[in-house]
Amino acid sequence: METTTDPPLGPSNNPEASNDSSPVNDVAVFPVSTEIPLHDLQHSPENHETNSAEDNSSAPKETTPEAPVLDSPDDSSEPIPGNPIGEQLQNSIRVEPGPSDRGPLPRKRRRRKKFFTEFIGNTSLAKNRRSDVTKDCDVEALIAMSVGFPVDSLTEEEIEANVVSTIGGTEQANYIVVRNHILSRWRSNVSVWLTHDHALQSIRSEHKGLVASAYRFLLEHGYINFGLAPAVKEAKLRSFDGIEKGNVIIVGAGFAGLVAARQLVFMGFKVVVLEGRNRPGGRVKTRKMKGDGVVAAADLGGSVLTGINGNPLGVLARQLGLPLHKVRDICPLYLPDGKAVNSEIDSGIEVSFNKLLERVCKLRQAMIEEVKSVDVSLGTALEAFRRVYKVAEDPQERMLLNWHLANLEYANASLMSNLSMAYWDQDDPYEMGGDHCFIPGGNELFVRALAEDLPIFYGRTVESIRYGIDGVLVYANGQEFRGDMVLCTVPLGVLKKGSIEFVPELPQRKKDAIHRLGFGLLNKVAMLFPYNFWGGNIDTFGHLTEDLSMRGEFFLFYSYSSVSGGPLLVALVAGDAAIRFEMMSPAESVRRVIEILKDIFNPKGIAVPDPVQAVCTRWGKDHFTYGSYSYVAVGSSGDDYDILAESIADGRVFFAGEATSKHYPATMHGAFLSGMREAANMLRVARRRSLIPSENMKNVTQENDDFNGLFGNPDLTFGNFSVLFDPRLNDLDSSSLLRVKFGGSFLDSGCLSLYALVSKKQAIELSKVEGDENRIRILNRNFGVNLIGRKGLSSAAESFITNIKLARSKLNEAENNATHRNMENRTSYQSSTTTLFC
Ligand SMILES: Cc1cc2nc3c(=O)[nH]c(=O)nc-3n(C[C@H](O)[C@H](O)[C@H](O)COP(=O)(O)OP(=O)(O)OC[C@H]3O[C@@H](n4cnc5c(N)ncnc54)[C@H](O)[C@@H]3O)c2cc1C
Repeated sequence: METTTDPPLGPSNNPEASNDSSPVNDVAVFPVSTEIPLHDLQHSPENHETNSAEDNSSAPKETTPEAPVLDSPDDSSEPIPGNPIGEQLQNSIRVEPGPSDRGPLPRKRRRRKKFFTEFIGNTSLAKNRRSDVTKDCDVEALIAMSVGFPVDSLTEEEIEANVVSTIGGTEQANYIVVRNHILSRWRSNVSVWLTHDHALQSIRSEHKGLVASAYRFLLEHGYINFGLAPAVKEAKLRSFDGIEKGNVIIVGAGFAGLVAARQLVFMGFKVVVLEGRNRPGGRVKTRKMKGDGVVAAADLGGSVLTGINGNPLGVLARQLGLPLHKVRDICPLYLPDGKAVNSEIDSGIEVSFNKLLERVCKLRQAMIEEVKSVDVSLGTALEAFRRVYKVAEDPQERMLLNWHLANLEYANASLMSNLSMAYWDQDDPYEMGGDHCFIPGGNELFVRALAEDLPIFYGRTVESIRYGIDGVLVYANGQEFRGDMVLCTVPLGVLKKGSIEFVPELPQRKKDAIHRLGFGLLNKVAMLFPYNFWGGNIDTFGHLTEDLSMRGEFFLFYSYSSVSGGPLLVALVAGDAAIRFEMMSPAESVRRVIEILKDIFNPKGIAVPDPVQAVCTRWGKDHFTYGSYSYVAVGSSGDDYDILAESIADGRVFFAGEATSKHYPATMHGAFLSGMREAANMLRVARRRSLIPSENMKNVTQENDDFNGLFGNPDLTFGNFSVLFDPRLNDLDSSSLLRVKFGGSFLDSGCLSLYALVSKKQAIELSKVEGDENRIRILNRNFGVNLIGRKGLSSAAESFITNIKLARSKLNEAENNATHRNMENRTSYQSSTTTLFC
C-alpha cells in the first residue's frame, strides 16, 4: 500500500513551535499589570499574549540577585560508582551553592513516588552483585541496569527478539556480558556511532555471534546509536540498507511519535506523522514569556527529567551540549499566615506520613496474598490508618499531612480517592536513578531537534483508523492516508474520549484496559515577574492550606529563575483543585496565587510585584489530551499499561506513548522509550511479513527451533496434541497454546505442526476426548477453532509465547541463583567474564 503522496498541505519542518496562534486550548495567556484591574482581564481572550508596561514603583530598591551558576560537584546525587555516565553527568549538572539561610531541613519533595521500594522487590544492587565478578563487568552491569536491563536475565524484548538460541544457561550469561559491554561502550561516548567492528574489538572472536546478536538488538531497539549528535545523525542516514520496509503512519508528534518516526526512518520505513496541533511536542510545551525587559521560557507540560541515570533524555542533552540543572532538594514549607513551618513538626509529620504508607504497604501485601482481586483507594486506606493511629490530629499537623497528600496527587495526577492502593506505585522499582534535572531553556529544545527533518503534517486531526489484513487507512481532516501499519501515540485521555474511531472496533481487552487505567490532571500557573523577589537559593517552596478540599491549589512553587532565562515562578495545581481550576477564570486564579505569595512574603518585608505575564494551563480541556498523564486507578494494575501497548490486527495497528509504558508511565522518558519499543516491534513484524526475504528465512528457522524447544516441555499432552498454559494465570478462561503434530500416515515425509489458541478449559476438555480425529472435530465444530501454521499465529499468540519464554527464563534464573547460593558450581556468569574478552 502507498501512503497518500499529495496532501493539500505539505509537511512543515519549521512549524511555529508553541506559537500562540496554535489552535490548542491548553493555555490561557493574558497580561497582568498594575494598570489594569484583574477583574477586567477575566474577559481577555485565551491564548492572547500581551505584555504589560509594568509599573515598577512597588519594586524594592534592591532586587534579589540571581545566584551565580557554578560548576560544582553534585552534593546529593546518587551516582553509580565508577559509572562513566554518572561521571559525565556530574560534569554537566549545574548546582548553585546551598542556601545561605539555614531555614527548614533539606528534604526530597519532588515529583517522585518512591516510598515502597523496599517492600515491592526493587532489584537491589547489593543483593544482585556477585562478589567475584571483575570490576569492569560490574560497572558495565550497573550501566545496563540503569538503562533498565535486569542484572542476570533477559528482558521480554530480548526474548522476543531471539537474541540467544536457548533461554537460560551459559550462552545467555555470555550474551548478557557482551550486551552490557557494547551498551557501556556507546554510553561512554554518545557523540559517536559505535560500529559493529568497534563492538567486536575487545571480545574474543569465537564470541562474534553473540556480538552480532547483541549489537543488532541494541541498535534496532534504540539502546545504542540513537539521538541527535551530528555524527550519529549522519551515520544513520548512511547506514540504511536500501531495503524498503513499508509505509508507516504515525498519529501524534509528541515524544513517542517523534522518536518512533526518527527510528523508523533510520530503519528504512517510509513515514508520515499526522499531528492535530500546529506544533510538535504534545504535552511537552515551552512557552516563551516576555515583557517589561524580562524574558523566560516556561515548560507548561513535561518539565523535570525525573532521574538522570540511564535516562535517554540525558543522552540527548549531552549530544546537544545542553547543561542540566539539578533540582535542589530543599523545599521550605509555609503556613497560611506566611510563617515557616516548625522544622521539628515538619520532619515529625513526614516520618508519620511515610509510616502510614508503610502500613498500607504491609496491608496490601497481606491482601494480595489472601484475596487477589480486592482493591481499595490509597486515600481510603491511608485515612483509615490515620484515624486508627491518631496521626496528625493537631490542625497544623493536619495541614502538613495534607500537603504530603497533595504532593502524591501531583506525582500521580490524581485524587487519592482514585488511586489503586494495590498498584499505584507499581513502577517504583524501575525509577530512573540519579538527580532530577531541568533543561535550561526548556524541553522544547529537545522537541525542535527531534522534529527536525521529519515529514510531519500539522493540523491533521485523525478521526478514524481503519485496518484490515492488507493495511491501514487513516482519515484526518477529510484526507485519506494509506499505509502498511499505523502507530497510534495519542494520549490515553483521547482514547478514553473515543475521539478516534477504530474500524473494526478495538478488541474488548484493550477497551477494558483503556477504561480501567486512570488519566488525571495537573495544571500550572506560570508567572513572569519583573524581578526575582523570592530568592535565588531554592528551586521549590510549598504552601499549606486549611481547606482540605483545596490542598492541591498552588501547594508547590517551582522557581525557574536559574534555568528559564528570567524571573519565572510556576505554581502547581493538583488533585481536586486542578479540576476546579479549569472552571475558574485565569484572572481569578492569578489573583489567588498572588494573594498566597503575598501571605508568604509580605510578613518578611518583601513586596510581591504583579507578574508581567501569566499563563494558566488547561490540560483537562485540551482536545488533544483531555488530561495530563496516566495513573493506576482502583481496579487497574500495571498490566493495563502492557495491554495498551499490545499491537492489534496481527501487526497492523501499534500503540506507543507514556500510557503504554508499564515501567516509566507518566514521564517524558517513558514516552521516548515507548516510541523506540514500537519502532522495533514494527520492524519485527515487517520482517515476519517477508518484506525482507533473507532476514525472514533466518528468523523463521530460528523461531521454529525456539518453538520446538518450548513444546519440549508441555503442560499437557494427549495423542499428538501438546498444550502450553499461560504461566501467569491459573483460571480456566486463561489462554493456552495448542500444537497438533501431523506425520506418518498423514504426510509423505517429515512432520507438520499446526497451532491454535484455546482456553485452558477447552484444552482440558479435549484431553478427555478419545482419539485425535474426534478431538480435531470438536475443536472445529464445538469450539469454532481452526488450526493454523506457525506464521499465521496472531499477535495475541505471539505475546502469549513471549510470556511463556519469560516465565521459563525467570525459572531458569531462580534455579541459577539457587545454584550460585549453594556454591556448588562456578557460575557461567563468572566464567563469561574471564573468557569473553580479548
Ligand atoms: C502538566 C504536566 C506536567 C508534566 N510534568 C512532567 C515532568 O516533570 N517530567 C516528566 O517526565 N513528564 C512530565 N509530564 C508527562 C510528559 O509530558 C508526558 O508523559 C509525555 O510528554 C507524553 O508524551 P507522548 O508522546 O506519550 O504524548 P503526547 O506528548 O501527548 O503526544 C501525543 C500527540 O498526539 C496528538 N494528538 C492527539 N489526538 C490526536 C488526533 N486525533 N490526531 C492527531 N494527533 C493527535 C497530540 O496533539 C500530541 O502531540 C507532564 C505532563 C503534564 C501535562
